[in-house]
Amino acid sequence: MVIVGAGCAGLACARVLFEAGEQPVVLEKSRGVGGRAATRRVDGQPIDHGVIFYHGSHPDFLEALAGVDAATRLDGWPATWVGEGKPCLPRAFSPLEQRIAFTQGITAFPKFLARGLDVRLRTHVRSLVVREHDFELHIHDGETIATDALVLALPAAQMRSLIEPLPASRALDSARAVLQTLTTDPCLTLIATYPPKTPVPDWDVMYPDDSDILILASHDSRKRPEKKFHAFVLQCSARFSRLHLEDEPSSWVETVLNETGRLVGAWAQRPLLTHAHRWRFGRANAFPLSSPMLVGFAGGQTLGLAGELFNPALGVEAAYLSGKALAHRILSSREN
Ligand SMILES: Cc1cc2nc3c(=O)[nH]c(=O)nc-3n(C[C@H](O)[C@H](O)[C@H](O)COP(=O)(O)OP(=O)(O)OC[C@H]3O[C@@H](n4cnc5c(N)ncnc54)[C@H](O)[C@@H]3O)c2cc1C
Repeated sequence: MVIVGAGCAGLACARVLFEAGEQPVVLEKSRGVGGRAATRRVDGQPIDHGVIFYHGSHPDFLEALAGVDAATRLDGWPATWVGEGKPCLPRAFSPLEQRIAFTQGITAFPKFLARGLDVRLRTHVRSLVVREHDFELHIHDGETIATDALVLALPAAQMRSLIEPLPASRALDSARAVLQTLTTDPCLTLIATYPPKTPVPDWDVMYPDDSDILILASHDSRKRPEKKFHAFVLQCSARFSRLHLEDEPSSWVETVLNETGRLVGAWAQRPLLTHAHRWRFGRANAFPLSSPMLVGFAGGQTLGLAGELFNPALGVEAAYLSGKALAHRILSSREN
């Protein structure tokens, strides 16, 4: 069993299979686990530059989050938010939802899911071949890996780029048709840090209501009990991100800082340092499916598809639940 993608969907799938006695291998192109649930360390201080906080109401998701070291858990974060802008998932602020962050960074959760698993980092799956009874995966370094049970737990566009070159078949055509309907918007993101004495505001998150550049500012250092500096994470709108996706950060960083200055105060235009990040496949922009897909091939192989767009909750909760549901379907298909 090979799972491509060590985001929360792929790890949830691998975790269930592992606990059922399987030995799944997870292939991940980057240097760490978590995918868009990402934390960067700047001078030792964690900064969450993808997922800002976890939220959900499903008991399975909340139970999984409860496994992470309770001493590092920030229940109810964000506690204070300002602005009339639309959160990407407005449901996050409904009274039924729990909101959770972690003092050591949002990656605490994917790291917890990954414990004991065979995760191969820096392993980029470039292409796939369907053979008579299995799949052959081509890795960036020339290695090939064969498996008769493959899971893709990736943003839809990355799944498409692996599946589209394959020859037509009834099983693949159904997966292709579904993937055509699923899209994600890019999200340019800027980390900006400020000296400790800066007169920063006292909110956790801002959703600007009159900006077509920024959709969210997260006051990240308010998650850190011991901080060296103030840190903000500035997420750009889909429109602005699409416009500058291929540009050098130097061409758009000043615009983002100026806009932040307009919204929160001139101090924001003079950071200590900035780090730009390009989420090419950032936020879901589609009506999600109700469940993951598991397609069988004539030669007995199976291909599973999971990720945030394969569960109606969207966000990490959806990614987690889709991965878990797919693992249960794989296990029950083996029993039948
Ligand atoms: C800026 C931003 C902020 C967000 N904020 C929130 C939030 O606050 N709360 C929330 O719930 N959700 C948030 N989301 C959405 C959330 O990030 C996603 O719903 C969730 O992380 C998706 O998980 P996933 O496992 O489906 O995909 P991913 O996390 O994208 O995981 C896919 C993994 O596959 C790897 N991969 C891709 N291609 C290959 C390949 N060919 N070979 C090997 N590995 C590959 C990637 O490196 C990645 O690690 C945010 C998203 C963005 C971009």
